[in-house]
Amino acid sequence: MKLTTVAVPSHEEVVRVEDAVSGLTGFIAVHSTQLGPAAGGLRMRRYGSEAEALEDALRLSRGMTYKNAAAELPLGGGKAVIMGDPSAQKSPELLAAFGEAVEALDGRYWTAEDMGMTPADMAVIGTRTRFVAGLSDGAFASGDPSPVTARGIFNAIRAVARHRVSSDDLDGRHVAVQGLGHVGMHLCALLHGAGARLTVADVAEKAVAEAVKRFGATAVTPDAILATRADILAPCAIGAILNEATIPALRVQAVAGGANNQLATPEDATRLHARGILYAPDFVANGGGIVNVATEILRIESREAWVAEKLEALDRTMDRILTRASQRGVSPHQVAEAIVDETLAREAA
Ligand code: NAD
Repeated sequence: MKLTTVAVPSHEEVVRVEDAVSGLTGFIAVHSTQLGPAAGGLRMRRYGSEAEALEDALRLSRGMTYKNAAAELPLGGGKAVIMGDPSAQKSPELLAAFGEAVEALDGRYWTAEDMGMTPADMAVIGTRTRFVAGLSDGAFASGDPSPVTARGIFNAIRAVARHRVSSDDLDGRHVAVQGLGHVGMHLCALLHGAGARLTVADVAEKAVAEAVKRFGATAVTPDAILATRADILAPCAIGAILNEATIPALRVQAVAGGANNQLATPEDATRLHARGILYAPDFVANGGGIVNVATEILRIESREAWVAEKLEALDRTMDRILTRASQRGVSPHQVAEAIVDETLAREAA
């Protein structure tokens, strides 16, 4: 396993990881350790080039700095990517070699599960490094983060309802949910429990049938969900769904969901704002996921109380963002980034 430093001015530390024997090529990007060790998942997927893989690691690690700071976690931002098709090129040897690379960073970066990875893969990585979270067994194993993620999104939906219609009572409110996977299904259960009316879509028909049966949801096709007339849209499937093409067709007052990187470009925050659609910044709305993982990294004893406290912190942050955005007449996304920048500047002073 060979580590090579890549100089990137915007990041504290970036390394290229290569292991010829197992076929591993990847990058570990540490954007910031200002608030604590950099934490963020490991993603394995096919990339067109090394430059593309590096770009993804840089972009995602910066995003983790913002996500962790917004949740008031003592963690910085990092991310790792491995190039290749996880279904064909992942092997115990490759994962072990990656684990050695993480260990070589001596705790400046903590890895966890992301796209293309499973808890079992994390366990293999954990045979070579102490700095791994997202395990399913062990004293502080945090398990599936999606129930906590869904609680955070539920709070974000209440926050946008409060700011848009001056009441966070979701009874009778209509929410359109895109994606009924781990997060979306838990979210639907919470919304249904609060009396919300649901319209749902997923490419997986089984998940749709379950939501219809359990929550009395109305099903629409995946193509139709983004243009569904509802109070709030909750994107819980894939990224970049808020873009130049979809925003003009939205028929909701607000967007608050769990998917990462919902905005295709930063200008899409302005497009939403111009249409009067209140957008709950995704990295704040879905921060429950990293809160859950943080219990493992930080070895939290009283897990439930700590998670509840951090979800409250996220909720307070969201409220501040939406309040300031409305006072200044700017998009919440812009305010969210500014608030984290202020936190980082304060810490640096
Ligand atoms: P998942 O894979 O369990 O679920 C995603 C669901 O979306 C699947 O049911 C899939 O069939 C569906 N889907 C895919 N493309 C779709 C489309 N075009 N239209 C409608 N449905 C589609 O993933 P998840 O863990 O529920 O995560 C959902 C999103 O939330 C992802 O963007 C993820 O990065 C983000 N997120 C998840 C967590 C977590 O705790 N799991 C935390 C933070 C962020």
